[in-house]
Amino acid sequence: MPDFEANSLIDFKAPDFREITDLVYRCNSADVDSALSKERRSIRDLAALLSPAAAEQLPAMAARAAELTALRFGRAIQIYAPLYLSSFCANHCRYCGFSAENKIERRVLTIDEAEREALLLAERGFNHLLLVSGEAPAKMGVEYLEELVGRLRARFASISIEIQPLGEADYRRLFKSGVTSVAVYQETYDRDIYEKVHLAGPKSDMIYRLATPARAAAAGMREVGLGALLGLSDWRCEGVSLGLHLAWLRRHYWQTALTVSFPRMRPAAGDFEPMVSVGESDLAQLLFALRIFDHDVGLLLSTREEARFRNGMIGLGPTRYSAGSCTAPGGYSNPDQQGEQFAIDDQRTIDEVCRDIRARGFDPVRKDWDTVFQQAV
Ligand code: SF4
Repeated sequence: MPDFEANSLIDFKAPDFREITDLVYRCNSADVDSALSKERRSIRDLAALLSPAAAEQLPAMAARAAELTALRFGRAIQIYAPLYLSSFCANHCRYCGFSAENKIERRVLTIDEAEREALLLAERGFNHLLLVSGEAPAKMGVEYLEELVGRLRARFASISIEIQPLGEADYRRLFKSGVTSVAVYQETYDRDIYEKVHLAGPKSDMIYRLATPARAAAAGMREVGLGALLGLSDWRCEGVSLGLHLAWLRRHYWQTALTVSFPRMRPAAGDFEPMVSVGESDLAQLLFALRIFDHDVGLLLSTREEARFRNGMIGLGPTRYSAGSCTAPGGYSNPDQQGEQFAIDDQRTIDEVCRDIRARGFDPVRKDWDTVFQQAV
């Protein structure tokens, strides 16, 4: 049997999906019982919690995940909104509406337009802002972000970015300008599938992308976000890979907070069909397993999911919800704006999302960080 943990101590490499598949599908209900009864869990325990054998123990997993979430995060759920800056992209990702070959209306917001969109979100009550863009450095690069963040940092408690992968020096520059966290999703940890869906552009270099969270953490970012796009490869093996990546980052960058996102594929320009199906109970199992494996990781559940499911998951693991989202640049000022990255499902406003969270006895938190901490660094 491969020694996953020893391997991850040396360096974080693209996991071998065949070995992970073998590990996951050999687990039985005794392995699941053992994983559930422990205080600290190994990668093998995570594989057991993600295995088909664990599907029968979903209620027990939900209860354990709820208990651990309450212990670590209390009854708070952070609310954030994405602000799309640019829909230009140099990459050819078969599953994405922004993919370079898609004939969509594209735009990059001017700094003034981006500031107006951000202030609109501030007026709606958002304190945590996520700046998102396609990956086209020639259209939107570090200088643009430095200027925009310089204008916005006094208005927001935290500013995160989800843009093209950068080098450590650029992440340092952005941290200095006021960016506090970086999200960079691997999309899939399955090498064969990665090659099949990333046809051209810088993103086809899987290894560079895999090392990006470490570069962001090394640059001093307060928080780094990982993720896998569900619908490309076996979700159980993506979950184990995420666990390996998380564990590796914890060992090497213990000072950095980590989050994980599990976006399920949504309809988008290009009409790409998911290569594997991932149901709601699968997504729930993935969330429970990651929470039980890593008690401190922030878990995001975005507006890709419908309101009913998001409401049902309150208190069972997720710690952060997006709300009132639009995925087209300029879409907050102009609701008719075309050119979205993908269609969202949960259309509720921020107030409606907060009301539903409160109705379940939890606190929607619009601010859990202050820039004063960053100035002290
Ligand atoms: S997934 Fe990201 S990198 Fe790929 S086409 Fe879409 S915006 Fe570009």
